[in-house]
Amino acid sequence: MTKTSFTLQATDGLARTGRIDTPRGTIRTPAFMPVGTAATVKAMMPESVAATGADILLGNTYHLMLRPTAERIDRLGGLHRFMNWDKPILTDSGGFQVMSLADLRKLTEKGVTFKSHIDGSKHELTPERSMDIQRLLGSDIVMCFDECPALPADRDRIAESMRLSMRWAQRSRDAFGDRPGYMLFGIQQGGLEEDLRAESAEALRAIGFDGYAVGGLAVGEGQEAMFGCLEYAPGQLPEDKPRYLMGVGKPDDIVGAVKRGIDMMDCVLPSRSGRTGQAWTRRGQVNIKNARHQDDPRPLDEDCTCPACRNYSRAYLHHVFRAQEMISGMLLTWHNLHYYQELMQGMREAIAAGQFAAFEADFHALRAEGDIASF
Ligand SMILES: [Zn+2]
Repeated sequence: MTKTSFTLQATDGLARTGRIDTPRGTIRTPAFMPVGTAATVKAMMPESVAATGADILLGNTYHLMLRPTAERIDRLGGLHRFMNWDKPILTDSGGFQVMSLADLRKLTEKGVTFKSHIDGSKHELTPERSMDIQRLLGSDIVMCFDECPALPADRDRIAESMRLSMRWAQRSRDAFGDRPGYMLFGIQQGGLEEDLRAESAEALRAIGFDGYAVGGLAVGEGQEAMFGCLEYAPGQLPEDKPRYLMGVGKPDDIVGAVKRGIDMMDCVLPSRSGRTGQAWTRRGQVNIKNARHQDDPRPLDEDCTCPACRNYSRAYLHHVFRAQEMISGMLLTWHNLHYYQELMQGMREAIAAGQFAAFEADFHALRAEGDIASF
């Protein structure tokens, strides 16, 4: 099979469930993509990531182009083989991280020149170079190269940046060419301005993409403003293509985004917080380093079927974090990724059954109860 397709299977209100089929496998939507920044989801073996139920990973163009370089990964058989992950991979375009991580950035119509945050070496990213890097990596879902201003920003700056991103979207489309089996997603910009979002969506539709991302959110605007934008932004994008909300989020952000018509999301949160002792459960957030867990023989979540909850007590998890043992981040990352995937599975089933509102009510009710009382 060399084709890709998106099939919408059921809707409930604005929430949607379906599947993206690619030659490397099916992505069930709504989908959460764990982040494998540097060709690894930190603290996890790839087979463990798959065991949590993830159908797709996200890789970061910016990090991989600097180290070990896209050319080296290509020579070694591509990113899937390099990192031992045979399911789909989505790569970002590098644009966002150039803006947030690189030194001495210079932005022109052509693209961005910058210095590596690792060794100070000079690089250039353009729409054409970003497409080339993502092709060398072997990414299944390629993202357009775009520019994303930090919010808050004034309307003129947002409009100017969005229009530059739309010109870059056309150049990305031209450079990507015709590649059966691979998908190219456009990225909507326009900040929190409804008319600019509409203009951006119109420009992207005219070019034509395999999927559409809502970009430029989760950059410090807060949940209320983000949901405000999601009241209209997904609806401006084509209904028959996947909609991807980049860089989101906390469990309640994810449920709220799915409710408003989003199909895909990614975030470092479950893996990053797993390494710092923060667990996400159906009852909200738990800091396992807190002394109240030190004598607690119960699992983090008795109903969770992940290895951390099946085989270890809160007291053990607390101990290994306090002792800074490597297994601490491994176990909690596993739990967090498992919880996120279980949340997605729950939403997929609820949408298919026409029960999303009840699912959402239960989700919030259990979180409002909070963590179980101390032992
Ligand atoms: Zn668990």
